[in-house]
Amino acid sequence: MADQFEVSDTYGHFIDGEMQPADGGTFETIDPATEVPIAEVAAGNANDVDDAVADSIAALDEWQKMPPAERGRIVSAIAEAIQADEDRLAYIETLDSGKPLSQALTDVRRCARYFEYYAGVADKIHGDSIPRTREYVDYTVREPLGVTAHIVPWNFPIGILGRGIAPALVTGNVAIAKPAEQTPLTAVEVAKLAVDVGLPPGVLNVITGFGPDAGEPLVTHPDVEGITFTGSVETGRQIAKQASEKLAHVHLELGGKNANVIFPDADLDDAIENTVRSIFSRNTGQVCTSGSRAIVHQSIHDEFIEQLARHTDELTIGPGVENPDVGPLASAAQFEKVTKYIDIGRAEASDPVIGGSIPDRKGYFVEPTVFTDVNPEARIAREEIFGPVLVVITFSDEREALAIANESDYGLVAGVFTSDIGKAHRFARDVDAGQVYINEWFASGIETPFGGYKQSGLGRAKGLEALREYTQVKTICARIDD
Ligand code: ADP
Repeated sequence: MADQFEVSDTYGHFIDGEMQPADGGTFETIDPATEVPIAEVAAGNANDVDDAVADSIAALDEWQKMPPAERGRIVSAIAEAIQADEDRLAYIETLDSGKPLSQALTDVRRCARYFEYYAGVADKIHGDSIPRTREYVDYTVREPLGVTAHIVPWNFPIGILGRGIAPALVTGNVAIAKPAEQTPLTAVEVAKLAVDVGLPPGVLNVITGFGPDAGEPLVTHPDVEGITFTGSVETGRQIAKQASEKLAHVHLELGGKNANVIFPDADLDDAIENTVRSIFSRNTGQVCTSGSRAIVHQSIHDEFIEQLARHTDELTIGPGVENPDVGPLASAAQFEKVTKYIDIGRAEASDPVIGGSIPDRKGYFVEPTVFTDVNPEARIAREEIFGPVLVVITFSDEREALAIANESDYGLVAGVFTSDIGKAHRFARDVDAGQVYINEWFASGIETPFGGYKQSGLGRAKGLEALREYTQVKTICARIDD
């Protein structure tokens, strides 16, 4: 059982180092395990966004002129402050998102790690010198974009916040975060901690509220030069169009329908444990990198399903604060969506071989569910469900496995389980995905670039690659002949 922490019952925008009173009304954020409201939160609008952007612009000069090493020290202090407060932040995250407490703690630590990792880069961002002829000296510098907007989703509220904010800050940008309306609390908490440890007010502002009312005015604001969005393809496409109107830099991390290919020469126990983690026991399958399509060799299919059923049966389901394996879905809307897809699956495939029921209790709980022998053309095999629903498809040879894996509009991640190193790397070479896992699902770290092929996004988060999303290159060409 979790330690109980005091959670404020009112949250506002965080602008200029202070929580602002809500002018434009409030909304309730709900605990998805109990359906009980946790706090009243400011419902942001275009006026709030204007205030936040004006304040960010005022903070830009000081932040950009600060020696990079000093910026790095402040960002490092943010990492330490998050770590020092990890239990409280994880508790708030669990209440707000429903995720099991140990997973919330992992996310909080991951957020701290982003600040730690990028802090060390602050004074190592440099350009090139480019040899041409003796008459010229040419060099490049990497400059910040200016005011960056960070539209954050509800599945990893604190983790994805850190993923975008930390590289934006160390490269000399200021940032305005708009957390998801379902999970707004930890963004405000992190911004408060950051100012407490020395981040100048205005360098990180937070606007809470709904997508169309608070997110859209931020995205379309003429002074916002960079937009980092993580969420649905539909909203991402709309944001890309809006960004194109003002030619702002846009970085999109969207959905996935990720192929998890299991060959008969794989360590089957290991592959099954990974499969369970990939789709059930990490954030209840509400993960864009979930292993939502298991593509399993026909010779091991029956054994795979039998063992998968045994493992799935052992999973505990309950409120996040009790730290189960599987928590509730994050919102009523997500519960509706996932249960609708289970109905679609029954209609277009057959009854699930595992799960498929709704536990008889308060909260947005759905049993881990598996459909097998699914036609790769079926909607449940093509569309992102974003919940604990696994689709199993069989294949007969390597070529067919690859073809099924690539038969998707998405291309976020893919995984392969095999003891044949050549087969693993052939798959990695040929699969259309921005990240490939070999013999371990979620094998990547914050240091490894991440982003989508096809409809899964534009640009790259994580690692040094992310720095490109927050900088623009200036080339200086000087004539020096006498
Ligand atoms: P989902 O449908 O899974 O909730 P969304 O892509 O709609 O995912 O939401 C992800 C984030 O984008 C949230 O912070 C949400 O408030 C925000 N958002 C939604 N619509 C818009 C919009 N039109 N402009 C800017 N942000 C938006």
